[in-house]
Amino acid sequence: MSTRDQIEAIYQQVLTRNAGEPEFHQAAAEVFESLQVVLEHRPEYADAALIERLCEPERQIIFRVPWVDDSGSVHVNRGFRVQYNSALGPYKGGLRFHPSVNLGIVKFLGFEQIFKNSLTGLPIGGGKGGADFDPKGRSDAEVMRFCQSFMTELHRHIGEYTDVPAGDIGVGGREIGYLFGQYKRLTNSYESGVLTGKGTSWGGSQVRREATGYGAAYFVADMLETLGTSLDGKTVVVSGSGNVAIYAIEKVHQLGGKVVACSDSSGYVVDPNGINLELLKDLKEVRRERISAYCDTVKAATFTADGSIWDVACDVAIPSATQNELDADAAKVLINNQVRVVAEGANMPTTPDAVQLFRDAGVAFAPGKAANAGGVATSALEMQQNASRDSWSFHYTDERLAAIMNGIHARTIETAAEYGKPGDYVHGANIAGFIKVADAMVALGVV
Ligand code: NDP
Repeated sequence: MSTRDQIEAIYQQVLTRNAGEPEFHQAAAEVFESLQVVLEHRPEYADAALIERLCEPERQIIFRVPWVDDSGSVHVNRGFRVQYNSALGPYKGGLRFHPSVNLGIVKFLGFEQIFKNSLTGLPIGGGKGGADFDPKGRSDAEVMRFCQSFMTELHRHIGEYTDVPAGDIGVGGREIGYLFGQYKRLTNSYESGVLTGKGTSWGGSQVRREATGYGAAYFVADMLETLGTSLDGKTVVVSGSGNVAIYAIEKVHQLGGKVVACSDSSGYVVDPNGINLELLKDLKEVRRERISAYCDTVKAATFTADGSIWDVACDVAIPSATQNELDADAAKVLINNQVRVVAEGANMPTTPDAVQLFRDAGVAFAPGKAANAGGVATSALEMQQNASRDSWSFHYTDERLAAIMNGIHARTIETAAEYGKPGDYVHGANIAGFIKVADAMVALGVV
């Protein structure tokens, strides 16, 4: 059987076995696209059902999360933890609280996480979790009760050497605090290394909050350098206004770029003078308001409820909200507006046809596996600090993050060239991430 047929047969098995999980199929297809060239160089990876084993999570946990709201009504949500692959280290990956969460979404995120974590060069396996709970509009007390109920089940399955969750959409510092508080209470142990994204006064790492956004900006800077230019004076659009977006904007500004637009699920804001970050942080991190409130303070800014943030002309686009938010139509507009670099701050925000359009147009495109790996990399640094009961300075941790992103960029580019796909970050990231995990799985035997 040709390598193409081998891969196609495995992909068909993935579709049949995981019916009704389109996001997972999409994530698998993206990786499979790169595996043909790998199998041509290294046919032994097709042995011992290695790819089939990689596609099957080691463990999938689904549980009931009952909780009581402020008025005394009882709600039931569904919780998930998919422990995907532990060949390189304990399962590691965030928790997402959003009404759209289902098993397929968690599996797509967990599958991507395996390769992303491998790319960081750090000893972490891949996993992901979450719940179909919507924290929006809920009081702190309601969020706390939900987190306590969620952890009451989850605590049985996680641990410093087993599985170390962190934040994702809808799970930030507040939620990690409530989750850790309940874990500590249930286990009667201050096991700091069981969760990352903790507050810096109780076991968290400096720069973890900033890491995904900062890392994406460092990656963009490296991409631009490869193109013989820099962020200095570049116009940038960042979608979203959550954890990733806010700190991508902060670092882009520090590196000399100007972010002129950002968004939330209600619409987008354009500020031709550059997004006022202090105001954005206050709106989103403190007051938890909608993005349109930005225009109440900044009169030069405009808010658009219906429409696409990708209509805003820019040199660099950093989609940082959610999956499949940048489609083919948006890609055409960006290409028409001469975008040079697109780097995924979010996980799989670009649809496959949009990715192809960027490739065909010669736009440098970096997948989330590479560009947003700074978050999980800094989580691994938090685990290191917890294990050694140490605490590093902001400056030192930021330097480590910058060096890690630099390493990921170099590995991605070098691997793409080695496998005959020069300049292709998608192939580079998939192949480099895959090989390390595959080699570990071969060494560990059929387990
Ligand atoms: P947050 O919850 O902090 O922010 C998410 C942002 O995206 C909000 O502005 C939200 O708007 C917007 N958004 C979410 N869902 C939708 C939607 N369906 N349509 C339009 N806008 C939406 O999450 P993060 O910033 O942590 O995560 C953003 C992305 O980055 C996700 O894909 C996540 O998986 C990825 N990521 C996060 C990492 C991290 O360290 N946090 C690490 C690596 C990747 P609204 O508030 O209106 O919902």
